[in-house]
Amino acid sequence: MKEQSEETPQGPLPVVDFLKIPEDGDPYLEGFRCTSCDAVYLADRAACSKCGARDTLKTTRLSTQGNLYVYSIVHRSFPGIEVPYVSAIVDLEGGGTLKGNLINIEPDPEKIEMGMPIEVVFGDALGRVDRDGNTYLSYFFQPRG
Ligand SMILES: [Zn+2]
Repeated sequence: MKEQSEETPQGPLPVVDFLKIPEDGDPYLEGFRCTSCDAVYLADRAACSKCGARDTLKTTRLSTQGNLYVYSIVHRSFPGIEVPYVSAIVDLEGGGTLKGNLINIEPDPEKIEMGMPIEVVFGDALGRVDRDGNTYLSYFFQPRG
C-alpha cells in the first residue's frame, strides 16, 4: 500500500457531502439547524419537517460526541470489504443522527452497549481511490475512552 503524504496537493476528498475538510484545520461534519425549533438535518431542505418553518435552516458544525442509537454486525459485504464490521446509527450531541461504521471495538454483541458514548473520528476511507488517484476521507465512530 502507498504511503499517504501530508503534502499531496489534492488531499483526500470527502466521502460524503456533509464531511467538510477545511484548508487549514481538522475535518468536521456539517449539518443544517432549524433556527426556529433547533432540529438538525444532514442535508438542506426547503422547509423544516419538524416545525414546518421555511428558510430557517442554517449550516452548523456537528458535534464529534454522541451515543450509539442502534447497530448491526455485518457479516457479508462487497468483495474487498473486511467483515465482520459494525454498522451503527449514532445520535450526536446537540442534534444530528447519522449512520457509519463503529470501529476499534470487537464486532461482538457482548462488547457493544446501546447508548454507549462514542466519538466521531476521521480517516482514510478503507483504501478507496477514484480514477484520478485521489483518496477519500471518511468518518467513523469509535467508543469514547
Ligand atoms: Zn424547525
